[in-house]
Amino acid sequence: MSRIKDIRLAPGGEQKIEWVRRNCPLLKSLREEYRDTKPLEGVRIAVSIHLEAKTALLCQTLRDAGAVLYVTGSNPLSTQDDVAAALVKDGIEVFAWYDCSAQEYDDNIREVLRHHCQIILDDGGDLVHMLHTQMPEEIPYVLGGCEETTTGILRLRAMETQGTLQFPMIMVNDAKCKHFFDNRYGTGQSVFDGINRTTNLIVAGKSVVVSGYGWCGKGCAMRAKGLGARVIITEIDPVKAIEAVMDGFDVMPMEEAAQIGDLFITVTGCNKVISEAAFARMKDGAVLCNAGHFDVEVDVEYLRRNAVQSREMRKNIMGYEMPDGRWLYVLAEGRLVNLAAGDGHPAEIMDMSFAIQFLSIKYLAEQAHQLTEKLIPVPEEIDAVVAERKLSMMGRKIDTLTGEQRIYLYGKE
Ligand code: NAD
Ligand code: SAH
Repeated sequence: MSRIKDIRLAPGGEQKIEWVRRNCPLLKSLREEYRDTKPLEGVRIAVSIHLEAKTALLCQTLRDAGAVLYVTGSNPLSTQDDVAAALVKDGIEVFAWYDCSAQEYDDNIREVLRHHCQIILDDGGDLVHMLHTQMPEEIPYVLGGCEETTTGILRLRAMETQGTLQFPMIMVNDAKCKHFFDNRYGTGQSVFDGINRTTNLIVAGKSVVVSGYGWCGKGCAMRAKGLGARVIITEIDPVKAIEAVMDGFDVMPMEEAAQIGDLFITVTGCNKVISEAAFARMKDGAVLCNAGHFDVEVDVEYLRRNAVQSREMRKNIMGYEMPDGRWLYVLAEGRLVNLAAGDGHPAEIMDMSFAIQFLSIKYLAEQAHQLTEKLIPVPEEIDAVVAERKLSMMGRKIDTLTGEQRIYLYGKE
């Protein structure tokens, strides 16, 4: 039995899913290709991904290929109740609602996992963590799983190193057609979508500090520059820092950047990237947000404990008054600003990420018994199929090597 906010919200969710469907041609083609042959017939899949319209479309595509789904969100603030209702009305079991407590979030994960699921579709590692720490009796049913994001893979690598990971996991994030586009262009656009619709403030002429110059950081810096900001990067990796300098950005430690920034965006996957020392130096009115995994990059806990008062200024903006009278504003409680205060990445981006997910799940269902390693890269053929289809759907063509060129490059045809 599903547990959601209100089934009567379904029409709003159906409308959102319909718009996404019209803009996700890859998922549409996979749905049409596999709805008759049903390669996932009867396969039970546990899903924990941000529960909004693109995820709903992935769920429907998997269901039409024969899978039986048990779905929850991957962040207490990113679940959209109307989308959850639309999925339930469509016959899919969902355990999620917006703004659930930490306890409810864990309970929903447990609800999903107690159905003897065979495939785990994880985003940040919460399902895998729960299985290994609290529900080991469900592990024998699991063939394997797929991980959507950078931090989830970091957590899986740590488990693999300790020898504790019990089943194979495909590293979807590391596929080229995922992180080249999702982490960079998806995050770049959706972070500013979240910031702009939440604050309704100008970016041009401001100093924007981006912490972390990885795939997501590059996207955020690129879009901040495009909107007319002065962009400052903070990093801990000297190579990434040089890259940022050569891309034309200022690079400096957080303690210096803190004094200059008007808007701060963290995308590192690390904790306490902005904390006490930085808060002490910030200008009155600085706006802080996070787009990396989890809500620990901006040390919101410190602000909660040390502010003389806090006040909700607008939906998703909490103001904290420091003892010296300065106000600092935190968006979406320091959780992913693009998903907690927006709709996440655009449809065309999630179309690629979720096409990789769909094909990786199909691969797992067919091959899991033969996999010997625990951490599995997405097979190159899957990346290639997604790239070729996407390019063709974009109406673009490219050249093909001639036989002579193959011999010149590789020594054989
Ligand atoms: P990445 O590994 O490519 O980049 C992270 C960067 O942060 C690295 O360059 C690293 O050196 C730097 N870094 C680490 N600790 C730091 C610190 N204390 N100060 C400054 N820099 C630091 O990872 P990525 O793919 O860019 O992902 C970053 C985070 O965003 C992850 O947690 C990932 O799961 C998450 N993510 C979020 C979204 C979204 O929709 N919001 C999308 C994809 C990934
Ligand atoms: N549980 C973690 C999850 C990290 S989310 C947390 O809440 O902090 C990062 C992932 O969200 C990315 O890898 C990206 O693929 C995914 N994402 C971004 N936009 C999305 C959308 N519109 N729908 C579903 N997933 C999305």
